[in-house]
Amino acid sequence: MTISPTLRALAISLLLPLTAQLGYGDTATTAAPAPEYLPLEQLRSFYKLMPLPGERAEGTRTVGNSGTTITFGPGKRELSIGGYRWLLSYPTREDSTGDLLISRTDFVKLFEPVLRPTYISERRLVRTVIIDPGHGGYDIGSPSDHVNEADFCLQLAMELRDCLTRRGYSVILTREQSRHLSDQQRVLCANGADAAIFISLHLNSGRSDISGIETYTATPDTPGIQRRPANNHDAASTALAFAVHSSLISATGAQDGACRRARYNLLNSVDCPAIMVLAGYATNKDEGTKLATAEYRTQLATAMADGIGAFARAINPDATLNPSVPAAEPTPPAPTPTAAPVPAKPKAKPKAKPSTGKKPAPRRTPRRRNRRR
Ligand SMILES: [Zn+2]
Repeated sequence: MTISPTLRALAISLLLPLTAQLGYGDTATTAAPAPEYLPLEQLRSFYKLMPLPGERAEGTRTVGNSGTTITFGPGKRELSIGGYRWLLSYPTREDSTGDLLISRTDFVKLFEPVLRPTYISERRLVRTVIIDPGHGGYDIGSPSDHVNEADFCLQLAMELRDCLTRRGYSVILTREQSRHLSDQQRVLCANGADAAIFISLHLNSGRSDISGIETYTATPDTPGIQRRPANNHDAASTALAFAVHSSLISATGAQDGACRRARYNLLNSVDCPAIMVLAGYATNKDEGTKLATAEYRTQLATAMADGIGAFARAINPDATLNPSVPAAEPTPPAPTPTAAPVPAKPKAKPKAKPSTGKKPAPRRTPRRRNRRR
């Protein structure tokens, strides 16, 4: 994409202060400084997004272009990108004139890699996928009458391995049997591979009426937060999370539990693009029962493989550099500088909800109890 001198200057002024922190070494400080905010107008002009009909309806703002739409709510952490939920690092704000403000951290660490994946500096090839089935051995994971989390994770990992192997990737599993691994052992496995991405598989647990898929990346490098190995890959991890999560929600029609940030020790310590997928709630009867079936595991594995392929092509559109995808399988459209890497599959319809032709309203983030990964 050709960038005008004005936009180039704007890009430098926006991106340099944060990207300059991407050197090696921790940046721990004693107190977290207040986040810096930028007007939504700056995001719109930089990415050539237009206000869309419905802007300011119920206080929300929707902007977009032919590639994607983004909907914000004032004072909220949650937003929708292309119809998929994300939780921001900092809630949006309104200034005295009612204009929406977005944190610089979210501008640089969320919107930039999702809207312009080809600008990710770490445009590595994706040759190897490290799949990490959570738990194992004496650690069975989330207690549930419907599905054994540790067994589910291993079965899903093997399905995903087979799917990715058929598409030309090398795949390493952190465990191939029911045995306990420490986080350190999982990290050593991940950090020893070359040209790799890391996907940890888990289930969620909580109230019996909660269901859905959540996808996590490490909390991005932010002033006041100790820098960890994962922060070397903030941009690629964000793009990977979005591609895999949107593919999963699109293919399964599961509740969209959002892409989220967390400071899990495992994710923090992995030194390659890394995500953790919580593929559903073991404690929800309907979802837990479905998770225990081979058919649903196949659906999840195929969706994740599609998402990984979308990510690989989004950051490196030269298809000859990435493992091939069988021609018979659906492939996402080639990404454009302002299009998020969303798979092209039609969205599956939830069983009990007839389509209204509109995206459903974002689900409120539920309070969770006894949640574990
Ligand atoms: Zn778990």
